[in-house]
Amino acid sequence: MDLNLFTLLGEIVVILLILLLILIAITLILGVYLIKNKKLIFPGLLLFALNLTYPVIKKILKWFQLNELLIDEISIDLINRINRDKFRTLNAKDVIMVLPHCLRAPNCPAKLGESGLECVNCGNCSIGIIKTVSDKKGIDMYIVPGSTFIKNVIKKRPFKGVIGVACPLDLNLAMMSLENYCPQGVYLLRDGCINTIVNVDEVIDLINATQPVTEYKAEDFN
Ligand code: SF4
Repeated sequence: MDLNLFTLLGEIVVILLILLLILIAITLILGVYLIKNKKLIFPGLLLFALNLTYPVIKKILKWFQLNELLIDEISIDLINRINRDKFRTLNAKDVIMVLPHCLRAPNCPAKLGESGLECVNCGNCSIGIIKTVSDKKGIDMYIVPGSTFIKNVIKKRPFKGVIGVACPLDLNLAMMSLENYCPQGVYLLRDGCINTIVNVDEVIDLINATQPVTEYKAEDFN
């Protein structure tokens, strides 16, 4: 290889690095704006930049010991916004809800069935309230201990829309893999193996948004 070829390759690498830095800046600026202001601007640009930079930004956030889940939260908010209008046209009967088993109380009496935990609505955790509202609305709810159960549910039960609750990383991955099912997600406020926390009002708002629209409130079922 002569010197000119090395110079050309070097210039291409520098240009690619500059493009990557620009895309990272676009993702972080538009993404943080979305999370902080609940407003989505340039959705196509954000989606494009996020898809190309997700693994790099995750690594950078980790290196600098920053919240690496930020990029998952941005992605979840973006997918929610993109699918929101279509999700609102779906009939509740065509929507399923998937909750993580870690939301249950330590003394949960639910047994594990083929499609996950079978909540008996003992009143010891927020799943009971969500179950009451989803039953009223006609949305099938599944409490799953892992991705194998999600696959079982998807195989057995046809659906057009899905409401998911999980930690930001799992939720983002699940929403990306279910992109054809109008996914709407709420990420956990506290992560862990048991007694995790979700904003129940946000989940109920999603249930209410399906057709026919309802106005159930968590406090009505406490
Ligand atoms: S409400 Fe359901 S999931 Fe929660 S602890 Fe009781 S039985 Fe378990």
